[in-house]
Amino acid sequence: MNVDAQSTVTLDGQFAREFPELAIHWQAEQAPDPQLAALNEPLATELGFDPEFLRSAEGLQLLIGTAPFNGSTPVAQGYAGHQFGSYSPRLGDGRALLLGELVNASGDLCDMHLKGSGRTPFARGGDGLAALGPMLREYLLSEAMHALGIPTTRSLAVVATGRPVRRETMLPGAVLTRVASSHLRVGSFQYARAMNDLDLLRRLADHAIARHYPAVAEAENRYLALFDAVVSAQASLVARWMLVGFIHGVMNTDNMTISGETIDYGPCAFMDVFDPGTVYSSIDETGRYAYGNQPAVAQWNLTRLAEALLPLLHADQERAVALAQESLGSFPRRYSAAWLSGMKAKLGLAADVDDKTATSLTDGLLTLLQQDRVDYTSFFRSLGTAARGNAGAAHSMFSDTTAFEIWLKRWRTLKPDAELMDRSNPVNIPRNHLVEEALAAATDGELGPFEQLLDAVTTPFEERHGLERYAAPAPETFGPYQTFCGT
Ligand code: AMP
Ligand code: MG
Repeated sequence: MNVDAQSTVTLDGQFAREFPELAIHWQAEQAPDPQLAALNEPLATELGFDPEFLRSAEGLQLLIGTAPFNGSTPVAQGYAGHQFGSYSPRLGDGRALLLGELVNASGDLCDMHLKGSGRTPFARGGDGLAALGPMLREYLLSEAMHALGIPTTRSLAVVATGRPVRRETMLPGAVLTRVASSHLRVGSFQYARAMNDLDLLRRLADHAIARHYPAVAEAENRYLALFDAVVSAQASLVARWMLVGFIHGVMNTDNMTISGETIDYGPCAFMDVFDPGTVYSSIDETGRYAYGNQPAVAQWNLTRLAEALLPLLHADQERAVALAQESLGSFPRRYSAAWLSGMKAKLGLAADVDDKTATSLTDGLLTLLQQDRVDYTSFFRSLGTAARGNAGAAHSMFSDTTAFEIWLKRWRTLKPDAELMDRSNPVNIPRNHLVEEALAAATDGELGPFEQLLDAVTTPFEERHGLERYAAPAPETFGPYQTFCGT
């Protein structure tokens, strides 16, 4: 692929062309004074851009959608969604635009998308804008997730617009340019279904198959196979969130992808001390999206997807329901298998250690972590050191060392592999106190702390000299922690 020295990257408008029912042609709002806050140079290169060009005044205009890409037909996408359990028939991109699709260096089709680019016909009461802090937060968290090997949308750039945004206070505004394997959501199918247009629903499902699950096109019942593939992708995704202590915070059906990528980083955060009831989001008053509820919520959301797809699954609706239920019923098994295999790696156990032993060991450990309010990430990393014979750091995290000592003995009989543990247990994650510090500094015009934190979390498994601060748990004085949606 040629690297783009000017603005020769061409976008396709496939979604806009194929789904006029789900797309409103729209333009990004002008920005008074665009200034680059973050640019993902490796990603830019993968997409065929010259990073130097993107840094230029002309490049910034492309990144925020105020100058057109070749072939670009920006649209606001329509979708519905269950928000905290209540159905909203018309959500859509209220402050976002799909610029179009391009093919990356690996030959994969991906979406270029803006967030914070101005009001659209889906904006309802919103101002269509985004503040710099929340856009840098999405950049940081999504790139950290990518570095952890977890499927996610990517962040290409954050550009400060020079337009202040009114929230509780006035804040600097910004646009995030993000890349995803697509922006098809559970809510996209709910929206298509609500239009009562079977042809549209079928075309949307065919589009999802071609884009994300081409292998299922040959299945006898391709739409059931599509649903089953999404169930499998989401079971694996949520297991991976759980293994690193990621809390999405707003798992509404409009924020769940068909591709199985993590999307829409709002009030998300990594868990500090291990507690399944952990909720950081200020708007999640009932704890619906608490850490420990995420697998059940994913299955609930998939049930909503099944409902949207029912007419495609079988002509006889009773039969369609039975088929959907059978696939949905496989979620807990698939989730548990992915979780246990990840837990075995975190504990340094060989894949052939029997599941019963591994489950009992894991359950026992998590109970101890919860009882003693132990920092989840630091503990697992220190357990790698314990596998090398030095359990001092792990010990020091417990007040009840007798119970932990008994657990350690059991674990050691299974001969844990310290190197496997180091590859499976991150040392650098976006810890809440560091994220807050970095975003507060960025809001005041100082990007250094953001850049240093980004550097640390994009090498999550490396213990780097001089970066010890990024590997330490939050100080006792930090918290109770709350996150905000950033809308
Ligand atoms: P979220 O749950 O943050 O992904 O957003 C839910 C819905 O609200 C989506 O339809 C968004 O496009 C819309 N939305 C969020 N913030 C704004 C805003 N500031 N202006 C307009 N629409 C917004
Ligand atoms: Mg959303």
